[in-house]
Amino acid sequence: MRVVGASATHVGQVRETNQDRALVSGSLGAVADGMGGHLGGEHAAALAIAELSGIRGPVDEHRLIEVVEAANLRIHEGSVEPQYRGMGTTVVAATFDSSRNVITIVNVGDSRGYLFREQRLSQITVDHSLVEDLLRQGRLTEEEARVHPQRNIVTRALGIGPDVEVDAFAVEVAPGDRIVLASDGLFNEVEDDGIGAILDHLVDPKEAVDELVRVAVERGGRDNVTVVILDVLEGDDPTAGDGADAAPVGRPVANDQFASDNGGPGGGTLGPDPAVADPDKSSFWRRFRPRSMLLTIGVLGVVVLGFGGTAVYARSGYFADELDGDVVILRGRPGGVLWFKPSVESETSLSVDELDGASLERLGQRPVWPTLEDARDFVDNLETPVEPDAPEPSD
Ligand code: MN
Repeated sequence: MRVVGASATHVGQVRETNQDRALVSGSLGAVADGMGGHLGGEHAAALAIAELSGIRGPVDEHRLIEVVEAANLRIHEGSVEPQYRGMGTTVVAATFDSSRNVITIVNVGDSRGYLFREQRLSQITVDHSLVEDLLRQGRLTEEEARVHPQRNIVTRALGIGPDVEVDAFAVEVAPGDRIVLASDGLFNEVEDDGIGAILDHLVDPKEAVDELVRVAVERGGRDNVTVVILDVLEGDDPTAGDGADAAPVGRPVANDQFASDNGGPGGGTLGPDPAVADPDKSSFWRRFRPRSMLLTIGVLGVVVLGFGGTAVYARSGYFADELDGDVVILRGRPGGVLWFKPSVESETSLSVDELDGASLERLGQRPVWPTLEDARDFVDNLETPVEPDAPEPSD
């Protein structure tokens, strides 16, 4: 068996810069979604991809994790530069080991790895995001998660601390399987059915990644969109001897490459949307059980030592905000999407239903506090009105 890959990326319709990066090199694929400042996000994503592009030949999950950890340290150390302060990136990477017929996928953050097999799309990775946590706690439905205003808050990213916890998944693959790696700009715009329809319709990996990106941009393109496909094929790689990686050295996908290649958003000359054109087919993957077909071996990693040490502006504050009806304390800066995605530091027992108008207004101003203690004091001092018997809203 062998693997053939392709990638595409697009800045989208809203963002000014593309902070996503992609890599396809031999049987290795990766996507990184950078965040933090004007330069930082791009730099962090590029550093992650550069570290991964040094991989030669088949590697196992331990090696892949080591490389991601090395990338994390490099990004973290680089963030002492003023222009890169607070930079971070997600990463999802996959590599094919032909000696075992296994594709290993590692991830940090909310970029995803999927398996498309027998017309079914299954998410293999678990997002390190706030909405994923809430989903797991049963506090959100899939539908609510999809449109949640804080769905872009990640709970893990490369570059935030000197250590990072990396998840790894091993998938035993067969010819015809497709591994899809994507930044959230894809799956926040295109539902699983739509992704599956395109993967089913377009056999050529380059055509498929281009179409996935095109549709995500067309549906709104509110974020950078990046997709990598690794296709598992019958036979050995004619260009590679002995499993060595003889393919061209990995090229990070340049900004807007897709735009210049394809005429940008809405340059739809690729025919009707297969998801719409062939509605019967979509029933094939409408009701799949995620991860049901997978051989997923454990989750590996090291323990995060904490965010101490280098205090960076983006992560130096604490503020309270409403989340899913509750008051939570976030680390970072309000509106951090443009700078750094804030992460939930602490939940509180307070629900916004319990707050009076003045307290809601104070909460809405989202003052930033230097310490968690200060933020907790602020929450404690929010006034609560007298009538406590308001019923819980049912969902
Ligand atoms: Mn993104």
